Amino acid sequence: MTTDLLQIEMQKVPQSRIKEVDFNNLPFGKHFADHMFVADYADGQWTDLRVVPYGDFAFNPALSSLHYGQSIFEGMKAYKNNEGEVLMFRPLDNWARMNESAKRMCMATIPEEIFMGGLEALLRTDADWVPDQPGSSLYIRPYMFATDVFLGVAPSKTYRFCIFTCPVGVYYSKPLKVKVEMEYIRSAPGGVGYAKCAGNYAGSMYPTLLAQQAGYDQLIWTDATEHQYIEESGTMNVMFIIDGKLVTPATSDSILRGVTRDSVVQIARSWGIPVEERNVSITEVIDGIQNGRLTEAFGAGTAVVVSPFQVIGYNGNDYMLPERSATDSFAVRVKEYMTNLRTGKIADEFGWVVKV
Ligand SMILES: *Cc1c(COP(=O)(O)O)cnc(C)c1O
Repeated sequence: MTTDLLQIEMQKVPQSRIKEVDFNNLPFGKHFADHMFVADYADGQWTDLRVVPYGDFAFNPALSSLHYGQSIFEGMKAYKNNEGEVLMFRPLDNWARMNESAKRMCMATIPEEIFMGGLEALLRTDADWVPDQPGSSLYIRPYMFATDVFLGVAPSKTYRFCIFTCPVGVYYSKPLKVKVEMEYIRSAPGGVGYAKCAGNYAGSMYPTLLAQQAGYDQLIWTDATEHQYIEESGTMNVMFIIDGKLVTPATSDSILRGVTRDSVVQIARSWGIPVEERNVSITEVIDGIQNGRLTEAFGAGTAVVVSPFQVIGYNGNDYMLPERSATDSFAVRVKEYMTNLRTGKIADEFGWVVKV
């Protein structure tokens, strides 16, 4: 593979911290594996590719990403199969999306061989950190931020790209109570909603807090112009089963192109379930709940795979979704299928699984 031609400096920890971690009790995002991959961009080139012990960065107070937000990230997962081999799920899609985000934020892009080569070098080094307990995985966080020391508002000329990982346990998602947001917006046409840029998450926290104070778990974002059409829920894409069809908002510049969303759509099609990617109005959803044509609503994203909604709050009323047994729920079936696919338990007919 071309990645073997990469010069990656290796500096390993003298002693692993893995014994300090209880793999049967893994809170999300708190335990970090021994190493991280780092590369720096300057003079138009990525240099100093290295796998080093996970640890602090030093930075200058004028670091431009802290002031003007040129900061993007990705989220993906690795699993172990029964043979103990490490499997990544659609990593090239994360690489491509990271570069889409980079272009929108006027940042340097990452060549495929550096993203993939860094990922592979890191996962080989920390292979022991990939959990094999059912439902557990290694969460992978590639990200990039501007490193110029300069207070002018201008694209940075230097960047740092880093990948670190966290073993994560079963994400038990209780069915969510979500509120349709009619005042605040996450993104707008012409904006940056399709980019995984840090500022999008900062901007969503206050409206989410208000919803939580009102007793909801999460928001459903609506379009910025009319607040009539459903966009996303928190950091997940949103999907519905209406009249037995999988219905989901079409992606646009205000909706993030989730890898999970795309996977669920392709799996549904392969099962012969009709899929509609189009505008989904709030009226259609509320009417569908009331007349029984809408049978499921759920979020889709890497952290949870799918997360069913139990209640949708809209204009002060709470609408209950019907209870589905595990056997007749599409969300449950697709989650199980994706888990089996990602852990190598079933044949990968889509070509999504990449062995490290
Ligand atoms: C990351 C993210 C998603 C889900 O994307 P996946 O690739 O499926 O993890 C959806 N919406 C937003 C806003 C996100 O940040």
